[in-house]
Order: sequence, then C-alpha cells, then structure tokens
Amino acid sequence: MEKTLSIVKPDGVRKNVIGEVLSRFEKKGMKISAIKMIHMTKKQAEGFYYVHKERPFFSDLTDFMSSGPCVVMALIGENAIKTVRETMGATNPEDAAAGTIRKDFADNVEQNIVHGSDSPESADYEISYFFNQLEIKE
Ligand code: ADP
Ligand code: MG
Repeated sequence: MEKTLSIVKPDGVRKNVIGEVLSRFEKKGMKISAIKMIHMTKKQAEGFYYVHKERPFFSDLTDFMSSGPCVVMALIGENAIKTVRETMGATNPEDAAAGTIRKDFADNVEQNIVHGSDSPESADYEISYFFNQLEIKE
C-alpha cells in the first residue's frame, strides 16, 4: 500500500466539488487516512510548493493557494500516487483526458482544482507538512 497527499485547492472549494473529488478517489479504491480543511497563509503555501520557488508562476501560485480554504488529505491505496494523478488528469486542463477531475472542473493551468504528490519522497514531505502522527489513521 502506498500513501499520497492530495489537496482540493481553493478553486475546488469555491466550486463546491469537495465531495465530487473525494468520491472519485474513493471509487478508485483510495482510503482517506487523514483529512482537514485549512486556509494557508502565503508563507505556508510557499513552504508547501518550495520545489517550484524558481518557477515564474511561483508568486501567482502561492497567492492562489492562500486565496481561500482548501481540503488537504492523506490517501492510502495500491499505487496511490499514480492512481490519484491519473484521476486528476494533466496539469493543464486543456491537455487533460476526458473524465478526469481537471478536464471536468478546472479553468486553467494554475487554477486546476486538485493537487497530488508526484513521488513517494514528495508524499512523505507533503503528508508531514500538514499532519502529525496522531492525525493519521494508518
Ligand atoms: P501538478 O500539480 O500537475 O503536479 P506541477 O507540480 O508542475 O503540476 O505544478 C504545481 C502547480 O503549479 C500546478 O498544479 C498549477 O497549479 C501550477 N502551475 C503549473 N504550471 C503552471 C504554469 N505554467 N502557469 C501557472 N501555474 C502553473
Ligand atoms: Mg506537482
């Protein structure tokens, strides 16, 4: 079993699709092992996305991620990282496959509804960024 970290980003919360996103992950066999709603500060969003700090979109991205509440969750399941990323679709919704979350709900490459970890190392960092041991149901 593998773990991953997903986020329903502020646009997903504003569009009222929290349940829809969770349901799609559950239908793929993912179990929620931790979940909460938070509203990140700009600094907290910068810490989460520090790997992108040199990218031209970093400032806009961290403004967006701190623009409202989001739902952060740790998911566990078989091939959770790949399964969640396939369910999300490509970063740019214009490139996302039919039936993916981003194709169905995202407005653009920045405001793309959902995050999913891209490797076991980033999943570990991201889960521990938001949750302590007591908050995670194994
Ligand atoms: P993913 O979320 O699919 O793993 P990345 O890790 O490459 O994508 O990028 C992190 C986030 O940064 C994206 O989900 C998106 O919100 C934003 N982003 C990525 N590329 C761009 C871009 N070219 N312009 C604006 N925002 C972007
Ligand atoms: Mg990424």
